[in-house]
Amino acid sequence: MSAMPPEVFSVFATLLGLAVGSFLNVAAWRIPLGKSVVRPGSACPGCGTPISPRDNIPVLSWILLRGRCRSCRCRISPVYPAVELATGLLFLAASVKTGMSPLFIHHALFLSLMVLSVRTDMEHFIILDQVSIGGAAAGLGLALLPGAPGLVPALTASGGAFLFFLLIRAFSAAYLKSRQVRVEAPQGFEEEEEDFQSGLGWGDVKLSACLGAFLGPGPGVVGLFLSFLLGALYGVGVLARGGKRTRPIPFGPFMALGGSIALFFGRGIWEAYRSIGF
Ligand SMILES: [Zn+2]
Repeated sequence: MSAMPPEVFSVFATLLGLAVGSFLNVAAWRIPLGKSVVRPGSACPGCGTPISPRDNIPVLSWILLRGRCRSCRCRISPVYPAVELATGLLFLAASVKTGMSPLFIHHALFLSLMVLSVRTDMEHFIILDQVSIGGAAAGLGLALLPGAPGLVPALTASGGAFLFFLLIRAFSAAYLKSRQVRVEAPQGFEEEEEDFQSGLGWGDVKLSACLGAFLGPGPGVVGLFLSFLLGALYGVGVLARGGKRTRPIPFGPFMALGGSIALFFGRGIWEAYRSIGF
């Protein structure tokens, strides 16, 4: 690779992130419905008019069209440009951390999987197997890149996280049962009712293996700890507002947030923690 000034690489990474974010929007919408992510091209969900390339520029098109479809003027959710912008900024941050090195691919892929988890879990209460299981496999495959955790540490962290989450799932299921708390399955999930009674869904358990594979042991522990901390803070906030919680809270977004923070700062946090002398 010829040397590219870091600023130029960061601009390239940001533009790539915006485009990937646009693809993640399509994937989050189509994969849960069992549709192809490649064909046909994007169309307006309101009127079905194919979206022309000039109206498909990440973030910019949405702003220029003031969040409406060009043909039918129906509103287009701000979630679309938000996901594109977030992915662009995450890729920018990754480029600053890794520079123009193969490790950028490792970071960019992990962050893309996290963005996808947030979208599908918040909207459909699912984390795709392509993200969790496929992500774990990809994380192990990229573990040998310079700066990545290495194969054996990644495998250890992945398996360890999975077993730890299985344990948490068993405990939370027993706890919910003993307190006779019933978690209401969201619409369309009546058949998966049992999964919601466990407090922690299967998707979360599988996603933990993906976090472990990408982060490795130290940052992996930081990532999972942050997930539970953020999830618990949110849960307490919800409970403090009163009322018995019956609707499930998707845990994927907390894992994505904890995992992303750990990707950037996990090693530093882990070493600071170790140096305290525990
Ligand atoms: Zn339309």
